[in-house]
Amino acid sequence: MVEIESLKKWIELYGEKVTENKEHLNQLDSDIGDGDHGSNLTRGAAAVKEKVSESEYENLSDFFKDIGMTLVSKVGGASGPLYGSAFISMAKQAKESDDLAVLLEAGLDGIQKRGKAEAGEKTMVDEWIPVVEALKENNLTNKVIEDSLQKTKDMKATKGRASYLGDRSIGHIDPGAQSSAYLFESLLEAGVL
Ligand code: ADP
Ligand code: MG
Ligand code: MG
Repeated sequence: MVEIESLKKWIELYGEKVTENKEHLNQLDSDIGDGDHGSNLTRGAAAVKEKVSESEYENLSDFFKDIGMTLVSKVGGASGPLYGSAFISMAKQAKESDDLAVLLEAGLDGIQKRGKAEAGEKTMVDEWIPVVEALKENNLTNKVIEDSLQKTKDMKATKGRASYLGDRSIGHIDPGAQSSAYLFESLLEAGVL
């Protein structure tokens, strides 16, 4: 059972983290993509903050839906529709369950339905899969988050813009996995669990 107030805190912290680390995310994306991941998400975070702050939510579903729709409409690139799908999928799931592991698993499912990436393709999915597994076992730690992130380094990208580099994508952390790591670090910091 999760409370909307703690989830609001989660999303607020996430927005702060991507904004503070905008240049780092852009740098990671410059290495294997087009250098805009931090800028994309910072724009999204500002739009989400504005949207959420002007609304009162009576249920989780409406909260997640507003976040998802805002991300889809305000964030360009691959990541906007992917994060947007995650939250829209969580909004649907929130009508059935308020268990965080179940909700985030639905979010992962939304990302995979949209982007078709499987484990090991060097995308945000490689951060989400181990985190969802850990949550199900009631065992999410910063170590799980950080280890999954580091593992993207040795992967070869086969989805998204980084896949254009082929083998040259190896040796770099995936920017979307980094931003997802911020999302889950924020979850721990917000005390949602
Ligand atoms: P763009 O590549 O369009 O500039 P961003 O830079 O905002 O978009 O986002 C890039 C990130 O999106 C990648 O680092 C990766 O994690 C994620 N990504 C790209 N394609 C996919 C996909 N098909 N499935 C899951 N994640 C993906
Ligand atoms: Mg990019
Ligand atoms: Mg782009």
